[in-house]
Amino acid sequence: MSEVQGPMRVTILGSTGSIGTSTLDVMARHPERFEVFALSASRQVDLLFEQCVRFRPRFAVMVQPEHARTLQEKLKAHGLGTQVLAGPQALDEVSSTSEVDAVMAAIVGAAGLSPCLAAARAGKRLLLANKEALVVGGEVFLSAVRQGGATLLPIDSEHSAIFQSLPEDPGTWQARIDKIILTASGGPFRQRDPDSLRDVTPAQACAHPNWSMGRKISVDSATMMNKVLEVIEAKYLFGVAVDQLDVVIHPQSIIHSMVQYKDASVVAQLGTPDMRVPIAYGLSWPERMLSGASSLDFGQLQAMTFESIHTHGHPQRYPGLILGFETLRATPGSCAVLNAANEVAVQAFLDGEIRFDQIHAVNAATLDGFSPAVPQALADLLDIDHEARRRAQAMVHRLAA
Ligand code: NAD
Ligand code: MG
Repeated sequence: MSEVQGPMRVTILGSTGSIGTSTLDVMARHPERFEVFALSASRQVDLLFEQCVRFRPRFAVMVQPEHARTLQEKLKAHGLGTQVLAGPQALDEVSSTSEVDAVMAAIVGAAGLSPCLAAARAGKRLLLANKEALVVGGEVFLSAVRQGGATLLPIDSEHSAIFQSLPEDPGTWQARIDKIILTASGGPFRQRDPDSLRDVTPAQACAHPNWSMGRKISVDSATMMNKVLEVIEAKYLFGVAVDQLDVVIHPQSIIHSMVQYKDASVVAQLGTPDMRVPIAYGLSWPERMLSGASSLDFGQLQAMTFESIHTHGHPQRYPGLILGFETLRATPGSCAVLNAANEVAVQAFLDGEIRFDQIHAVNAATLDGFSPAVPQALADLLDIDHEARRRAQAMVHRLAA
């Protein structure tokens, strides 16, 4: 990545979401350091319009042409020069043009993979919130980062914590570390009777005790699929063996994750549960800057507690965790299959087509009997994603019938 002269020019993919709006909040605190180059959204025309009025980006991208036209008309009527583009190709363009320095990948799901690869190949500072892109992309994603000379910085709070707890030189990681321990809050159903999970509603599943997030990741937190995706993400980001990755439940979400070294010393990163902390770190790395988050008040902290994922009925409550670790050890395309199945299943649950406990049934059935060949390029990944979605959708139809 080339040295940035003047303000860092940033594209935010998914600027209207939870991470997108938090990113704009952090950037607005440092107008001298950052310039918004492009914003993007799936369908929230009004919010994207407000963001354009406030941040004056060069480009705004909407997925559908009709939304793009509406936005362009609104901006024109307001006398704003932001140019509106439409379609996935435009996301690749605003992520890879030489006019942009950094890309915040905050689209939800595999839809964010292509612009992530475009940013990686173009050697950008790539701030990765969109974990599904790395879970699906795997080695193809990492080789694009290497070939493009991009700087891949984790935004997921656990991975930011791990990154902050590791030595600076990645070349020393393997020789020094014993294992990486990801913390998990356990979500809204940590103490719920596993047999009653069939009755939970989307509103209950989206009511996370500690974090305010988009609906998909909220459901993933309730099923623990979020932790599965994060373990896969950690394997790729930090290049460790599956056996070196562990998960512990920590309901207060104060410790965001930890690294255990060979001498049994543990280094952790702590903070209030506020995504502006990892976002600010990604934007300012290797420096630090104000994030807007409040500091921990240790005098007020009641307790930090921990639970094994293997006790307290957790294996029954979170069957996806076991499936996830099995998938991680399976063929390289299996993680892409699991991700696609889960995206379909979560959407079907949110749409009221299947029950909460059937998300796992869809994921397990889709993985069963589909072991794709090793993906070599984006086209292979998209084929696997497509076929897994088709199989998952068929399973949803069977369950909903
Ligand atoms: P969100 O649903 O709040 O926002 C998603 C954004 O992506 C929106 O701007 C939406 O318009 C856009 N989008 C959705 N589908 C799209 C598509 N098909 N094409 C283009 N754009 C599309 O989600 P979020 O909670 O902000 O999460 C975003 C990503 O960050 C996810 O991958 C999530 O796992 C990850 N993440 C989120 C949090 C959090 O606290 N919210 C924490 C860690 C990681
Ligand atoms: Mg996380």
